[in-house]
Amino acid sequence: MKMTPELKKAQENMNPGVITAEGFLGTDKRNLSSILDEDAQMMRRLEVNPDEAARMLRHFMEEGQKGLGEPVTVDGRWIVRTDEARGHLVCPWEDGIFRKINVTVERKDTGDKLYFTDLSIHLLETHGFLEGKGSTFRLNLEILAHLLML
Ligand SMILES: [Zn+2]
Repeated sequence: MKMTPELKKAQENMNPGVITAEGFLGTDKRNLSSILDEDAQMMRRLEVNPDEAARMLRHFMEEGQKGLGEPVTVDGRWIVRTDEARGHLVCPWEDGIFRKINVTVERKDTGDKLYFTDLSIHLLETHGFLEGKGSTFRLNLEILAHLLML
């Protein structure tokens, strides 16, 4: 993938202090185009379908919200907790605005645990972006694969 002007702008928006205090790239020094390419390869290798994974993460978030901050058991297999902060976040690609919903999912039988946000679901689904290495909310693909594995 080439570094288009659109990707350059998105990457600028990912720097600390632009949309969030921490930013989206952690300690990752790669170009956004390389991050996207390498994560797409890893998703293929781990057989994680981004649409399917995003659909499941959204399902966890929606079910978890019913707990109003208390843990909820989802489909008998996962424990989900959500908490919602005030305010909104803009996507770095500037194509949407998202509530600040933090979600924790734990798989009951293995203890695999994943953190994500409403915005992480959009970033995965629409942009194939998991956040940079070292970013607090980077979606860890191996954990994600284990979490969803039947
Ligand atoms: Zn977006």
